[in-house]
Parts: sequence; structure tokens; C-alpha cells
Amino acid sequence: MFQKYNPGDLSETTRRDVPTDSAVDHDLLKKPVYDRPPLDLNALGEMGRAVKLDLVGEEKQKEEESIKKHQINTYVSDRISLHRRLQERWNPLCRDLRYDYRSLPTTSVVITFYNEAWSTLLRTVHSVLETSPDVLLREVVLVDDYSDREHLKEPLANYISNLKKVRLIRATKREGLVRARLLGASIATGDVLTFLDCHCECHDGWLEPLLHRIKKEPTAVVCPVIDVVDWNTFQYLGNAGEPQIGGFDWRLVFTWHSVPESEQGRRRSAVDVIRSPTMAGGLFAISKTYFQYLGTYDTGMEVWGGENLEVSFRIWQCGGSLEIHPCSHVGHVFPKKAPYSRSKALANSVRAAEVWMDEYKELYYHRNPHARLEAFGDVTDRRKLRAHLGCKDFKWFLENIYPDIHVPEDRPGMFGMLGNRGMTNYCFDYNPPGDHNMEGHRIILYPCHGMGQNQFFEYSSDRSELRYNTREPPGCAVGDAVSTYLTVHLCKKPQQPVPEDQKFILREDGSLYHVMTQKCVQAVDQTDNGTPAPVLRPCSDHAHQKWFFEEKGGVA
Ligand code: UDP
Ligand code: MN
Repeated sequence: MFQKYNPGDLSETTRRDVPTDSAVDHDLLKKPVYDRPPLDLNALGEMGRAVKLDLVGEEKQKEEESIKKHQINTYVSDRISLHRRLQERWNPLCRDLRYDYRSLPTTSVVITFYNEAWSTLLRTVHSVLETSPDVLLREVVLVDDYSDREHLKEPLANYISNLKKVRLIRATKREGLVRARLLGASIATGDVLTFLDCHCECHDGWLEPLLHRIKKEPTAVVCPVIDVVDWNTFQYLGNAGEPQIGGFDWRLVFTWHSVPESEQGRRRSAVDVIRSPTMAGGLFAISKTYFQYLGTYDTGMEVWGGENLEVSFRIWQCGGSLEIHPCSHVGHVFPKKAPYSRSKALANSVRAAEVWMDEYKELYYHRNPHARLEAFGDVTDRRKLRAHLGCKDFKWFLENIYPDIHVPEDRPGMFGMLGNRGMTNYCFDYNPPGDHNMEGHRIILYPCHGMGQNQFFEYSSDRSELRYNTREPPGCAVGDAVSTYLTVHLCKKPQQPVPEDQKFILREDGSLYHVMTQKCVQAVDQTDNGTPAPVLRPCSDHAHQKWFFEEKGGVA
């Protein structure tokens, strides 16, 4: 039968040998597991500085090979101290926070790795040991997810056998990050589980805010601010300003956003936690008993991807809260590109959609028609868990936790590929300039591929917008009177009026009328740069001015 979560006394199992003398010095309690070696300001990369080596010949080649192998410049990383210090990157107000170390829960830091480079992995371990108060850190649990690189076998086991509080366990087959993290969690003895990636660097004071918040609110799941460590120069790129929060778009891709005004209004100070609809990845702290109560992770998820959104939806829908603490900063190396195959990410996302998104999963499928065909395994147990915990629905989540997301209309016949009667087999196609910058490029015509994504458009008859809305926030087609081309710009918010040059009317006869110029969109196969494109022309009855939406597959 459903049991309500009872946090109990988070710290009762693990009282520590801490002097009870009230005069005991804050700084003494703060003492990390290990002190850092003396500072050598001349050392490469010290204080989080960028390393730029002017290499030639054989050394340059070695550097390039290291990048090819790890998608991280491990040639540079290997030359930086495993104990380097970082510049202060947090809000100065964080410095004044005081913690009652004797009452904070303890934590186990769980770090899984798959074929990680030596220096990035060990810099993570040393950084945890040198920034975490000894009284708070129970252990670091390293989980080897069946790596096959030699340095991670004997040499690693030998190295860490000399380190206090570090344990190493190994999976006997490739488990993927979800089950590898759970393997680590299963032997963890701290009150709180803190998950980190295996290429992180912790900023001083990163741990206390996370544990303090969980002590105060045991159903809070708390993430540090994720600072960027450059994969090439190893520069630590954090800043003390307001961090961003997590969202997602309707392809179920994670997105970053600035903190909305409503959330700013809710917070009482700059060092208060910030609520976030989703988490970026695997850097977070959670009470161990609450993690168990919530159903840990979806163990049907393989390798990488989707688990961050699944756990985020679950936390919010099942009564918890997901937060970012502005005083907890951890650096993370974002690799040049994925260093291993992530083909399971699609099935993982489908599992998240199937269990948590109710009818809104259709918005996802419309933008990824091939996801419908993906074998995602059995989610019966996860749906049972949702019922058992009495979790709220996705509509509640969108309205209350992520009210800023644009929810597409996706009316029948008004979304999908936008094809043309005259230039058959060509569809509207948009390639945004970058992952995080969607604006400014020209819409072109390209052979219809039926894969959604960059050929996914939606027409909103109530606002007369032609939206490229796989992204969040969505883009809107703009007609330019002078160039006659269509480009994409961010749509106005629902409460703002639609600019005249963004208004199109999709008429009964299939013509697409641009209100401002009083012209019609026409498919043209020769443009100034040789690419077929939709352009504005005087309206006619020509088949090249007749458009129609199709959800997937070829054209009619
Ligand atoms: N990981 C793992 N098994 C896998 C894939 C990843 O243990 O099959 C680990 C990986 O070594 C890292 C964490 O899970 O510590 C997150 O993966 P990664 O850093 O590749 O993800 P990203 O940060 O790029 O999202
Ligand atoms: Mn990572």
C-alpha cells in the first residue's frame, strides 16, 4: 500500500566524531578530507587558468590524438595539477553563509565512469576530497561501468588504495549510467547521495549548501550550478551571476533558460535556491531514503540520455522539488562531441514520455515520428510506481512548474512537413545557426524526409504564425519585403501582439498569404545562392503557391 514519505531524522544514523564544544571553530569543522599541496602559481592551469601550448611536430600530433580518443584535450589535462585551485566564482554573499556542521547530513559522492581519461577522473576525485569537509563526506564511491582501458584497471585500483574514503566497484557488464549509478548507490552509506560525473572540479564550499538544503527540506533534490571547464584549454569558466535553470523542448532535448520573474519574486535573497523544471544531467544531491521512495531511476534506460528528464518530471509530479543552489558550483568538462555511442537515448526519451507525459507525448512524437517505432521495452512497473506514489499529471507540471514553455497547438492538418503542390517532394526546411541560437537564417526547400526535426513546422490559425517549433522558445517565420525570403525569428510571447511581418494566412485553397506585403509564398527552385526556397511573390493560382501539411512520410 502507498506509504507517505517519512524523512525521519536524516542524520541520526551517521553521527560523527565532531567535538560538541560550542566554541569549536567553524573553520575546523570545515576542514576537508585532504589539504591541497602548497600553491604554485606558475603551474599550468593553476587557479583555473586556460592552458595554451604552442606545440609543433610530434607533440602536436600527440595532443591531437588525445582529443580524437577522448573528445577532451587530455594532453593538456595531463599537464595540469590534479590538485589545482580555482578562482572564486560564486556570489560573494555565499561566503557569509554559516553552517551547523554537526547537524548536517553526511553524503556519499557517487561517480560512475566509462573509459574516462586518467587525469580528468582523478582530478575529480582529488577535487572532491580537497573541497568536502571531512565531517560531511562519508566516502567517494567510484563505479567502473565496464571500461576496457588498461589505466582504469590495476593502476587505478592501486592509486586509490592509497586514498582515504575512496571505494571502487566494477560492473561486470556495461550497465549504462543509470544502473551504474544505482550500483554505487547500493553500497553508499551516507544519508545523502551526491552524484557527479567523472570529469568535474568542485568549487570550494560546493557541498554544504546542498546538504543544508536537504536537511531543511528532505524532498528537495538539489543541483549545483554547473560551470564549464573548457575541453581544450581547461579554463574554468564559471561566473558569480545568476545561474540558468533547466527546461526542455518538444523533441525532449534539455535547454537552458534565464530565471523567470515569477521565480525571482518567490526567492527571498540571492543565495536562496532556484527552482528548476529539469536538471541538466547527473550532478545532484538527494536524500538516500527519498531517492528510494521516489523509485530511484528507471533501470530500463541504457547507456546515456533521457534519464535526467525522467527523474525531473518524477520529482516534480510526485511531490518533490528540483532546485539549483547558487552557492554550490561544480565545473564540468563538456567534451568536443560525444565520446561514445548514444544510440539508446531515443528509447530512453520514449520511456520518459510514455510514463510521465500523458497526452502531451503526442507533441513529442509529432516532432520525432521515428520515435513511435522505437522499441522502448516494458514500462508497466514505472506506470505502477506513478500510480502508487499518487503523482500529479503532466498538465499540472506544465502549468505550475514550467508555465513559460510554449505548448504547441498541433491541430490536425496544421503541423508536420510543409510540402508544395508544384515542387513535389520539397518541404520547408530550417537549419538554425546553432544549438542555442535559432534565429536569423533563411528557410529553404529541401527534399522531404519525414523525420520531423528541421522540417517540422506548425501553423497557428489563432495567431496567424508559421512556427518552427521543435525548439524552446519557438521560432516564427518572418517575410521580408525587400529580399522576399522567409527567415526565422523568435516568436513573440502569447501575451504580446504578433508583428505584421510574422503574420501568414493559410487559406482554404492552400495559398499562404503574407499579410504585410500582401504577397503569397511561392516555391522557387533557383535562388541567388542556388538553393530552392520559399519566397514572396504576387499571388497567383499557380501550383507553386499551393502548400499543405503532412504529418510524416512522403508527399501526397
Ligand atoms: N557513464 C557511464 N556509463 C555509460 C555512459 C556514461 O558510467 O554507459 C558515465 C560517464 O562516464 C559520466 C556520466 O556517466 O561520468 C555521464 O556521462 P557523460 O559525461 O558522457 O554525459 P554528459 O556529461 O555528456 O551528458
Ligand atoms: Mn559529463
